Amino acid sequence: MTTDQYLQNFIDGELVPPISGNYIDDYNPSTGKVYAYLPDSDAADVQKAVEAAERAFPSWSRTGTQERFRILLRIADLIDEHLDDLARAESIDAGKPISVSSRIDIPRARDNFRFFATAILHFSSESHHMEGQATNFTLRQPIGVVGCISPWNLPLYLFSWKIAPALATGNCVVAKPSEVTPMTAYLLAKICQEAGLPPGVLNIVHGLGPKAGQAIVEHPRIKAISFTGGTNTGRHLARTAAPMFKKLSLELGGKNPNIIFADCDFEEMMKTTIRSSFANSGQICLCGSRIYVERPIYEKFREEFVRRTKALQVGDPFGEGTKMGAVVSQPHLEKIMACLDLAREEGGTILCGGERLSLDGELAGGYFLQPTVIEGLAPNCRTNQEEIFGPVVTITPFDTEEEVIGYANGTTYGLSSTVWTTNLPRAHRVAEQLQAGIVWINCWLLRDLRTPFGGVKNSGVGREGGLEALRFFTEPKNVCIKY
Ligand code: NAD
Repeated sequence: MTTDQYLQNFIDGELVPPISGNYIDDYNPSTGKVYAYLPDSDAADVQKAVEAAERAFPSWSRTGTQERFRILLRIADLIDEHLDDLARAESIDAGKPISVSSRIDIPRARDNFRFFATAILHFSSESHHMEGQATNFTLRQPIGVVGCISPWNLPLYLFSWKIAPALATGNCVVAKPSEVTPMTAYLLAKICQEAGLPPGVLNIVHGLGPKAGQAIVEHPRIKAISFTGGTNTGRHLARTAAPMFKKLSLELGGKNPNIIFADCDFEEMMKTTIRSSFANSGQICLCGSRIYVERPIYEKFREEFVRRTKALQVGDPFGEGTKMGAVVSQPHLEKIMACLDLAREEGGTILCGGERLSLDGELAGGYFLQPTVIEGLAPNCRTNQEEIFGPVVTITPFDTEEEVIGYANGTTYGLSSTVWTTNLPRAHRVAEQLQAGIVWINCWLLRDLRTPFGGVKNSGVGREGGLEALRFFTEPKNVCIKY
């Protein structure tokens, strides 16, 4: 499967250039150089995509679930067949280690298609019997044309997480991947052609958020938007879509706490906390960026955590043993560096990292950052309140359960939390009180695709995953039959 230098939109089953003829630079974050160009699409391209989706909808929505299952499974199989090429493309486009792309990102994209292909075979709806009077049954019908907009941190993984349930439930889709990492979505279009997905069922429009993305959100005939991205973008999107009464699913930012009690399994906690802090250079919405450690083990934790963080190999995504690649873009690198300056101004002590990393040769212009651990900051300072979304964590001691629950809940976010303890009643007690959509006890990122996925407070509205996604992408219609 070949990548191309000029990416194209996927509209009505064809790969087509943007109507304007304009393109945007696509950077390789490991070299800092432009290596491809993506369509700078606008409302005219979105219009074409919506028209194609509307043409395809009557037939796709009536296609039996067995046939939708078959085609989605074929897409999954083709992702598997091209796994190496897709992983390579993802690592070049996003700067992430090839071990991460090939073991996490692409397999998960495949599994998303497999999961929703089979889920639709088991999806059923409710019926409510009124004794002696009537029976109600609920039809769950596809919405029509829906919009899916995804971010750059897990490009194909999150793109497919939205598209697969939308298609499985019989909707036609106009989707926009992030302009920062468009390559694997482009390759997915070729896979859909090969899999025999009928023209217009999935349309992929590349381009900038405020232009192509905005045109999707504003389009009156796109009835639902599933969005994953930053909280401010989500707020703007809601403002646009709400007066049009669109169905909205918003998966937004986080500032997740990682709570470590002294009675935890120290080695298991340490191994996982290194991952939950720095996996994908901390650019996973579920990474735990505020680490709270119970005082009796604080010193021991700090010493071992800093030692292991310093040992993480940062560099060439294709290098053997690389644990962290580049961060995704120059603007994102600058944002993280500004956050580090703020942490210093706020009185934080940088225990390790804190600087850009200069590599040699081809990688000299790459956006590499040292993994960074900061201590000495108050829980309510900006560094501990605002999302950084990079390889940066703060560590803070605590004395009581009540105190740490207060810290954990003391931000505007509420996506996920991690708790480390061998005390079972405490695990239940704390989980119950945490303001988060997801709580992991003695683990992190252990995902069962059937579970509800999403956040509370400023981390989002609605849930993805399993039945939640199938319900989001369908409209319930109750039919009441009187005897
Ligand atoms: P972003 O909000 O900048 O962009 C996300 C997507 O929205 C991109 O495709 C972008 O082009 C598009 N967009 C931007 N402006 C738009 C507009 N006006 N109308 C329509 N679309 C628009 O986010 P990002 O920088 O790509 O991703 C990082 C953010 O995503 C972080 O805040 C992270 O926490 C969050 N995230 C959340 C989850 C989750 O499941 N909750 C998962 C991954 C990432």
